Amino acid sequence: MSGDDNLVVGAGFSGAVIARLLAEKSNEKVTVIDKRAHIAGNSYDYRDESAIMIHKYGSHIFHTSNEKVWKFLRQFTDFNQYMHKVVAVIDGIHTTIPFNFNTLYDIFPQTLASRLEDKLLKFFDYNQKVPILEFLKQNDKDLKFLADYIYENVFLHYTTKQWGVAPMDVDGAVTARVPVYLSMDNRYFQDKYQGIPLNGYTTLIQNILNHKNIEVRLNTEFEHGLIDKFKRVFYTGSIDEFFNYKFGELPYRSVRFKMETYNMEYYQQNSVVNYPCNYDFTRIHEYKYYLNDKSDKTIIAKEYSESFILGKNDRYYPIPAPENNELYKKYAQEAELLKNIYFLGRLGDYKYYNMDKAVLRALELFEEVAG
Ligand code: UDP
Repeated sequence: MSGDDNLVVGAGFSGAVIARLLAEKSNEKVTVIDKRAHIAGNSYDYRDESAIMIHKYGSHIFHTSNEKVWKFLRQFTDFNQYMHKVVAVIDGIHTTIPFNFNTLYDIFPQTLASRLEDKLLKFFDYNQKVPILEFLKQNDKDLKFLADYIYENVFLHYTTKQWGVAPMDVDGAVTARVPVYLSMDNRYFQDKYQGIPLNGYTTLIQNILNHKNIEVRLNTEFEHGLIDKFKRVFYTGSIDEFFNYKFGELPYRSVRFKMETYNMEYYQQNSVVNYPCNYDFTRIHEYKYYLNDKSDKTIIAKEYSESFILGKNDRYYPIPAPENNELYKKYAQEAELLKNIYFLGRLGDYKYYNMDKAVLRALELFEEVAG
């Protein structure tokens, strides 16, 4: 590998977007390497033999309110109008998550639900989103009862399974992603733009990378010896790995999927069903819902959370916590000292980005570096 202008390490969203911008807007050569055998990072999807599009690393639902991000991606794909909803099984009842007024009436008897609804509207605004850790701070007896119920039945066990610790010990921003929502809107996201790329994420990333100035090399590990061969390096791998773990390993959560095939049209009533309280898995994905795939079979994946262990499994979630952020900062300071090496993406920035934020970060970094 030699002499190109730019090396991009990692062919996920972040790497593909920065590569495209350098290739197209700066008319520079870009070599993209990825240690995996496929592009698209953890958004990688493929059609299996029953023609169902499988999200290999778990459900990916695109949503954004950012015009720039949406406009950028629309050059490379159309999206369907899929609106994500999540069903949760609480006390044996199938209901909606985030917890909203519909959930309230699904769970509680009519008179109690109605009283709680009145109380909620007395203390909060209609359409307000209240993070559970905020919602717990209630003086009103009825609302305290409700907050404790939601904490126990929606957040406590799910979060303990997902993060290995109770919600109180996870950064508040994590559980705030799924607030108590004072609304009848059952959608998981309220962003202006949402959907699934019509031909899948892998094709989207392929289209982004499809430029005469871009060369992609799969099954290719990053080596430090490559740095001197390029004008700039954009690194989307884990920043601690780049620095050979000199300050210690940044912790991550990983997940494992147990795939099952059933000879039936649908296994469950929704693409994702959460099991906050029972079972070892957190949720079950049923993939055919996303692109409305037709098949007399269905494929589901049960999702189990576990710690990330180097060499054993993949990194999925940075763990936002003060001590981890401090450790990340040490690496970020080292990174600042390096000329022409830039870190981005969930792993490079050690941030729990959604896909749209990863794209935005790449768009902004490009402006900073070469725009
Ligand atoms: N969460 C929960 N119960 C649920 C859904 C979410 O406790 O039924 C909490 C949990 O801590 C989870 C976080 O909210 O990690 C964020 O959920 P989200 O669905 O955004 O996670 P992701 O899809 O990124 O894994």
